[in-house]
Amino acid sequence: MPKFFFNKLFRCLSIFLLLNSSISPAKSSSALAAWILNSNGILEFRTKSNSKLKAYFQKGGNVFGDRFWIDFPGELKTPRTIEGNGPIKEIRLGKPNKGKTRLVIEFSESNNLKPLNWRLVAIDKNRWKIKLFSLPRKSFQTIGEGLVGKSSNNPKANQKLIHSRRENYKFLQLPDIKRNKFYVVIDPGHGGPDRGAIGIGGLRETDVVLDVSKRVKKLLSEKGVMVKLTRNNEIDLDLPPRVSIANKTDADIFVSIHANASRGKRRDINGLETFYYSGWRGRLLAKKIQKQILKVSPGSPDRGVRQGRYFVIKNTRMPAVLVEIGFLTGRLDARRLEKSIHRERIAYAITKGILEYLSRI
Ligand SMILES: [Zn+2]
Repeated sequence: MPKFFFNKLFRCLSIFLLLNSSISPAKSSSALAAWILNSNGILEFRTKSNSKLKAYFQKGGNVFGDRFWIDFPGELKTPRTIEGNGPIKEIRLGKPNKGKTRLVIEFSESNNLKPLNWRLVAIDKNRWKIKLFSLPRKSFQTIGEGLVGKSSNNPKANQKLIHSRRENYKFLQLPDIKRNKFYVVIDPGHGGPDRGAIGIGGLRETDVVLDVSKRVKKLLSEKGVMVKLTRNNEIDLDLPPRVSIANKTDADIFVSIHANASRGKRRDINGLETFYYSGWRGRLLAKKIQKQILKVSPGSPDRGVRQGRYFVIKNTRMPAVLVEIGFLTGRLDARRLEKSIHRERIAYAITKGILEYLSRI
């Protein structure tokens, strides 16, 4: 039953394309109900009955390792990243676009994978398996979510199953804090005629940081944190009003979000850094954020937590940091920052750093 074709144009190997009669409505919940990557290298998963799937393989490059992914109909509720072990770098569940779910298995470098021999096999109308690698015993520990063996036609129950074992795995999960207790000011750098740094392909700092800031606001709000953005759109906003917004309203913390550019627009300069002006609270907040943003930017250098005399963090009265989420002029960082999936990850990371800080004070 499996069909193969190799699309040289995209260096993508489309391993299998199953065409079935049922077409799920775009708004329905994810067709992926449960999955497990066993220590013997076999990936098994359970879907809604007769789901249409597409599977792909892409050879790794400088930024990513080799990747295998499957797209499922239906939208995923909670995008997440699960740390791998052995030959698996990480496993990600995301929504590449509205109404879709993508399961990505990313391998660490230097794997001798043989995707041309892979076969995606239907075990029954809602269960699947594919052998991805074979390695000596104990070199990979099983990772999975939910129960693959059990079939259920109730999508609600499926959603429950997929979340039931999450405590076993390290997700990029946001910590809970006391609701309606904290108030945070997020400051998207630049704006309006001040476009900030201009990067590769005309990527503009003002757009990138506004997008990330809005995502941070949304994520923090969902956790019960009150949030104010110093700007919501492309307006010209001087530095003093940014500071007075925070000072006048007695914010608990102030986080200014920026992206870097290197002198001479050197493409080999990438990295992330977080500045604070003074005090252990500011430094702690900077550390928490820096740690998280590095996690979602593998390969991009850690330029560290540093003291800086920037106006907005020097003149705000609460713990304040200025975070540089990457170099728009750097090949590695720019390629990521232009993608909304990465901006979402950075927003997640900044949010997680903030929540961790707030839970400590
Ligand atoms: Zn800036």
